[in-house]
Amino acid sequence: MPTVFIGHGNPMLAITDNRYATQWQGLGTRLPRPRAVLMVSAHWYGAGTAVTMQPQPPTLHDFGGFPPALFSVQYPAPGDPELADEICGLLAPVIAVRKSEDWGLDHGSWSVLRHLYPAADVPVIQLSLDAQRSGLWHLELGRRLATLRTQGVMLIGSGNLVHHLGRINWSSDASAHHWAEEADAWFAEKIVARDFDALCNFGGYSPAARLAVPSPEHFLPLLYALGASSSADQLEFPVTGIDVASISMRCCVWSSPA
Ligand code: ZN
Repeated sequence: MPTVFIGHGNPMLAITDNRYATQWQGLGTRLPRPRAVLMVSAHWYGAGTAVTMQPQPPTLHDFGGFPPALFSVQYPAPGDPELADEICGLLAPVIAVRKSEDWGLDHGSWSVLRHLYPAADVPVIQLSLDAQRSGLWHLELGRRLATLRTQGVMLIGSGNLVHHLGRINWSSDASAHHWAEEADAWFAEKIVARDFDALCNFGGYSPAARLAVPSPEHFLPLLYALGASSSADQLEFPVTGIDVASISMRCCVWSSPA
């Protein structure tokens, strides 16, 4: 299975016609179909590491100020408690993963999954992000999850490489901030080079990246997808662009060579 990072952007992309949704739909058709998806979403960020255990995880509407249509979206994909158990075992040498019945599928998951797998017939579980840990620690968890790729499980990190809500420009002709483009290009270069040190400690290397990532939660899902990748994989960026001036929509797919 490929390992994937998706820039999910603003929640309205889930229900509007837009070029990102079209590209995600294409990706869902083109990539091999997984037996299950492990999502690491920016929107489950807090104390410790947890995994969703429900056979039928609820759809969470974890935002405010959007139209009712967005709150009525349901993504009824089944869970996969057995896979959740297996993930607890894989990560046990590093962390005791909490089995959670309190979360479900947040909009970091379903806003892209409803385009990738519109029938909601691929089981999905979510893994949370521990806010107290370093970039290298998150990368290490990704490494330990790499073995799932050989079992038909697709790991998807869902966040945004550049994500500065305070600098969004909603006007339709908004052009990207210069620093947002610079940071997005810098991240892409380091991802291609597999420069883990730079990616885990970007604040010390790139002033533009430091500005583009005012808080880590949307960046960290990259480190899981990257950790699960290998230098033998083929890397592509099937979706790129800066949306609303300050959000990078870059998507990274690492696929095993045929
Ligand atoms: Zn988000």
